[in-house]
Amino acid sequence: MQSGAIRPINNMLPRQLFNAEHEAFRETVRKFYEKEVVPNIEKYESQQHVDRDLWNKAGAMGLLCPTMPEAYGGYGVDRLYSMILIEEQAYAMDSSTGFSLHSDIVANYINNFGNEEQKLHWLPKMASGEVVTAIAMTEPGTGSDLQAVRTTAVSDGDDFIINGSKIFITNGYLCDMAIVVCKTGSSEKGSANLSLIMVEADRAGFSKGKPLNKIGMKGQDTCELFFDNLRVPKTNLLGMEGMGFMMLMKELAWERMLVAIICQAGAEAAFAHTVQYTKERKAFGKTVSSFQNTRFKLAELRTEIDFCRAYLDRCMELQLTESLGIDAAAAAKYKISEMFSKVVDECLQLHGGYGYMLEYPIARAYIDNRANRIYAGTNEIMKELISRSL
Ligand SMILES: Cc1cc2nc3c(=O)[nH]c(=O)nc-3n(C[C@H](O)[C@H](O)[C@H](O)COP(=O)(O)OP(=O)(O)OC[C@H]3O[C@@H](n4cnc5c(N)ncnc54)[C@H](O)[C@@H]3O)c2cc1C
Repeated sequence: MQSGAIRPINNMLPRQLFNAEHEAFRETVRKFYEKEVVPNIEKYESQQHVDRDLWNKAGAMGLLCPTMPEAYGGYGVDRLYSMILIEEQAYAMDSSTGFSLHSDIVANYINNFGNEEQKLHWLPKMASGEVVTAIAMTEPGTGSDLQAVRTTAVSDGDDFIINGSKIFITNGYLCDMAIVVCKTGSSEKGSANLSLIMVEADRAGFSKGKPLNKIGMKGQDTCELFFDNLRVPKTNLLGMEGMGFMMLMKELAWERMLVAIICQAGAEAAFAHTVQYTKERKAFGKTVSSFQNTRFKLAELRTEIDFCRAYLDRCMELQLTESLGIDAAAAAKYKISEMFSKVVDECLQLHGGYGYMLEYPIARAYIDNRANRIYAGTNEIMKELISRSL
């Protein structure tokens, strides 16, 4: 059985994004995955979520919400730290931890749109792992078409009363708080009806389904949430009523980048495992790596991986100066997730029958990668966005 953790093969064009402090942080993250996560992946997969205390361990090591301001429990560092966290998760070939959604999506909404009281209440607990969070947009009846959300939040004095349900919610099973996308208005313009409400999971009327039985990413907690006459104070509203759609749009480029980063690093990990495997495996008295077909196939994959890496790192440079366009980020998500699917399929082929066995990391990567073309906006929606910029 191969270990899940691997170092990627150096890119043909050296990367230039990181300084010595970034690299020291990478080392800490790498050790965390090697020690705390990789040995437990099978356990997480059988229980369909990570252990709750993994969140506290990650928080204690400063691996949650590092980009949040220091006043709210973070380190105020740049988003390259988020990139490193995601890359190291992918190099460990782990798909169980849902840290990025918590640190890079939910925390950003609170930091961007929360008032001082909300930020002081939630962000330090999120950074320590005391609180696990989710974002609940998708419903059984609607995913891509967010404006068709049916979960309602009806005003009742100083409270909202929420009714409805959400599906496919990452971190849903372990979450202590979910930002729930609710319909609060009845305007003809659907986008003006949406609001974001922070809902504590211990409120009466909040219930969780069992973790959903997915084809891959089996260790990642994904479940349904139900709201039955759930009463929340209006002070739980994030930003202004009716501005939910606008708030969701603000960070969309970054959310697409998160998936592109996962896929790029995932492809690099799959490739590194395959190079190693083909050098060790023998057929017809030679290593599999010595066949011309193998060498050419690996050369093709390496070229594709490195072209995507150059595009992604350039997107990241623009992201750091907050000048990355929605179309460029959508293209990164679309192209790199397609590239990952292709790379992992070809890499599995080069493993022969062992590639079909789940104890080999390439097999798990093959099934886990599929969701990347679906979530954070499907690749069809990405093409829609790219075409709108023409
Ligand atoms: C593992 C996993 C984790 C997830 N985590 C979360 C989460 O944490 N929070 C959350 O809110 N959601 C989450 N989702 C949901 C995910 O974001 C949605 O599944 C996704 O947005 C697609 O919505 P849908 O499933 O309703 O598909 P649909 O919108 O029904 O789409 C079905 C098909 O129609 C296509 N289609 C739809 N509209 C168009 C169009 N205008 N033009 C062309 N084609 C179109 C789609 O591309 C797709 O191929 C998760 C999903 C998965 C699989």
